[in-house]
Amino acid sequence: MSDELAFEKRYFGHRARLVLTPAQSALIDDQAHAARAMWNLLHEWWTMLPKHQRSLTAADVAIRRARKEIDWLAALPAQGAQAVLRTYYRAWKNCWEGRADEPRFKARYRTPMSVDLPQGEHLKVARVHRRWGMVNITKVGRVRFHWSKDLPVGKLTNTHDRISGARLVKDALGWHIAFRVQSLIPKPEPHPGPQVGIDMGVKVPLALSDGTAFRHDSWLNGPEREELLRLERQAEHRKRCRHPGEKTSRRLQATYDQIRALHARAKRRRLNWQHQITTAIARTYGTVVVERLHITAMLGSAKGTVEEPGRCVPQKSGLNRAISEQAWGRTIEMLAYKTAHNGGSLIKVPAADTSRRCSMCGLITPGSRESQAVFVCKNADCGWSGNADHNAACNILHLYRAGHALAPVAGRRSRQARKRVEPTTAR
Ligand SMILES: [Zn+2]
Repeated sequence: MSDELAFEKRYFGHRARLVLTPAQSALIDDQAHAARAMWNLLHEWWTMLPKHQRSLTAADVAIRRARKEIDWLAALPAQGAQAVLRTYYRAWKNCWEGRADEPRFKARYRTPMSVDLPQGEHLKVARVHRRWGMVNITKVGRVRFHWSKDLPVGKLTNTHDRISGARLVKDALGWHIAFRVQSLIPKPEPHPGPQVGIDMGVKVPLALSDGTAFRHDSWLNGPEREELLRLERQAEHRKRCRHPGEKTSRRLQATYDQIRALHARAKRRRLNWQHQITTAIARTYGTVVVERLHITAMLGSAKGTVEEPGRCVPQKSGLNRAISEQAWGRTIEMLAYKTAHNGGSLIKVPAADTSRRCSMCGLITPGSRESQAVFVCKNADCGWSGNADHNAACNILHLYRAGHALAPVAGRRSRQARKRVEPTTAR
């Protein structure tokens, strides 16, 4: 019994790149388009019905009939169609319970392409080489993927370790497979490591209260940045040459694809860096304290209105781009689950004045901050000076020790709910 208690079920996702022939890729494209069309048909059907006739069973019957009557919908395997229905129903449930907005139609060019493979046992995942795995995709066949993490396959020691399903997702670099993995692992012991405050910034991405700072190079190297600039100019030129009402040319579409591929490459490098840094932090420290950031509010435009144009618009938009490139929200998400997996905890504190207060005397003295990088305390009795980001990180840790930790917010709230409750303020 005590053994039973010392284990916990853990669910995680693992994403791997698929290696497909053009024909296989086209087949999955068809499935994804069919899945999107299925969602749209379902949405139309659901919203047209009187409320008392809407039900999961009726929707199931409708989906079966649609797959029989519309031949291109049958490109999507029956299990995939069922998955669309389940996702659609869950979207409504999330809406009824106040977590999300109402489901909407999915537009062809704005929706990420994806296909669900809900049944793990049909995937028949196997490792065939140090770097390759094979997986079954319904109506496509057996395909190869990059093996970059150990997945529970083959003969297993316990029945709780398994792949429970997967999802195919397409981005600018092609089709990927995201596995849903379930495993039974020992419950982590409470982490004995020290407490640390973290300040997230634009110049220094992560500054820690013990003086460590994590930096990274620009995500794209020199030639890649030049290439991006060239492509953006080319796209701009082709857009200008287009007659009004004319649809996007194949050449312009191709340029857009190249731009997207470069952005996807940068994003992949950023993700890699974030994973490495957050893993290191979660392993070293027991309690990690961060500021609660209102990133959406921080990203507000400085443009203003026609009557009242804003000031420093290009500077603010540059800062916005820098904030978005740091993707703080994702770093915090990763820290939250990684600290939990290591037996530690992530604490959020209110963000007010952490960069203006002196971490030595605890006072806010006007004119204290010398520059973006250096903090000099203008309090006559103190006069401390040091790195500004380090100072902020120390303040964040002090806030936690003084008992200003915020209660964790459960789940995501819908846009309307957020608007009602929280008029966020930017600093
Ligand atoms: Zn001071």
